[in-house]
Amino acid sequence: MKQYFQDEHYMLQDMVRDFAAKEIAPIAEELDREERFPVELIPKLAELGLLGIPFSERYGGAGMDTLAYTIVIEELAKVDSSVAITVAAHISLGVSPIFLFGSEAQKDKHLNNLIAGEYLACFGLTEPEAGSDAGGTKTTAIRDGDEWIINGAKNFITNAGYSGVCNLTAVTDPSAKRPGGISVFMVDTKTPGFIIGPPEKKMGWRGSDTRALTFENMRVPADALLGELDVGFQQMMTALVGGRISVAALSLGLAQGALDAAIKYANEREAFGKKIHRFQGIGLQLAEIATEIEAARHLVYHAAMLKDQGEDVVKAAAMAKLKASEIAVRTSDFAVQVHGGYGYIKEFQVERFFRDAKVLTIGEGTSEVQKLVILKQLMKGL
Ligand SMILES: Cc1cc2nc3c(=O)[nH]c(=O)nc-3n(C[C@H](O)[C@H](O)[C@H](O)COP(=O)(O)OP(=O)(O)OC[C@H]3O[C@@H](n4cnc5c(N)ncnc54)[C@H](O)[C@@H]3O)c2cc1C
Repeated sequence: MKQYFQDEHYMLQDMVRDFAAKEIAPIAEELDREERFPVELIPKLAELGLLGIPFSERYGGAGMDTLAYTIVIEELAKVDSSVAITVAAHISLGVSPIFLFGSEAQKDKHLNNLIAGEYLACFGLTEPEAGSDAGGTKTTAIRDGDEWIINGAKNFITNAGYSGVCNLTAVTDPSAKRPGGISVFMVDTKTPGFIIGPPEKKMGWRGSDTRALTFENMRVPADALLGELDVGFQQMMTALVGGRISVAALSLGLAQGALDAAIKYANEREAFGKKIHRFQGIGLQLAEIATEIEAARHLVYHAAMLKDQGEDVVKAAAMAKLKASEIAVRTSDFAVQVHGGYGYIKEFQVERFFRDAKVLTIGEGTSEVQKLVILKQLMKGL
């Protein structure tokens, strides 16, 4: 990947690969089986600077580019998608909105702590009745003197149980045409009325923390407002564009991890007197999927580079996420097939990859939503 990588990217890739092999691979199967959040990894990730890759050194970040960040997520996901999404949700959805829209006082209060892994941050956009239609937010924030009173609920919030701060959307101007009239609040998760549900039982990403949140007459100070009043939907969409690049990188890593396992197995397993990759039904699909993954890799790195160049990446991020997540699902499915009956047994990691992959075409905008985003960009100006 010489056309994209500088020396620092190769060094970072080596470091994360080494960390994932030594610290994550030995516990990945247990995290999945026990549905355990790896709390012990957070300080280790922070120590290596992996919780602050794209943020400035002023706040304790590594001051590296988006490409570096995608490399981190890709390498983590080759081994364990749960750890990868923990980091990706923290950085793209938890820390980024504060970094992008926070006042200096808000940044000073939280960024150093978040990057040092003192606590995580989460992103409360999705609601029981507002997922793809995120502008349909029902949570309300009503001004009362120097405070806001927030009531409502959020669903499927990653890292919610381990976060010190949550960026959440609420309607602040009920008379405005949606998605206007929505604002983002940066809420301390210890605030009375901030109710954290139990961990969701999931098909995959079982080492990642996902919970529902309820807000009951939750009073937050006026300075909990993040950025400008009533433009919260646009702020969250901006954060999500970055988030989509990271989920695309996660998908890429999972796909590559599944392909590597399939190639290895196809070169070991024999049937009818020959290695199974010699059967065209297997060998040609391996070649085809490897090509698709390579195409996805270019889309992902290209989107990251465009973002670093300050370009509008709405279309590029949606294309990268769409392509990479769909190929992750296909690759993990095929990797199980290549393993035959063993692919269905938990001892083989492709079984976990298969379950982990499905959410990639759903979270941070379903594949259908990515296509709508791409279509809107294609029709722009016509
Ligand atoms: C494990 C996990 C972690 C998550 N983490 C977070 C998080 O940290 N923060 C957060 O805010 N959210 C999070 N989410 C929520 C996620 O972003 C939503 O689930 C997703 O956006 C889809 O919303 P929904 O589930 O309400 O589905 P719906 O929006 O109800 O969609 C149902 C189906 O209808 C389709 N559909 C909907 N509208 C259209 C349309 N206009 N055209 C064509 N098809 C359409 C969808 O593509 C989908 O197939 C998480 C979800 C999961 C499963």
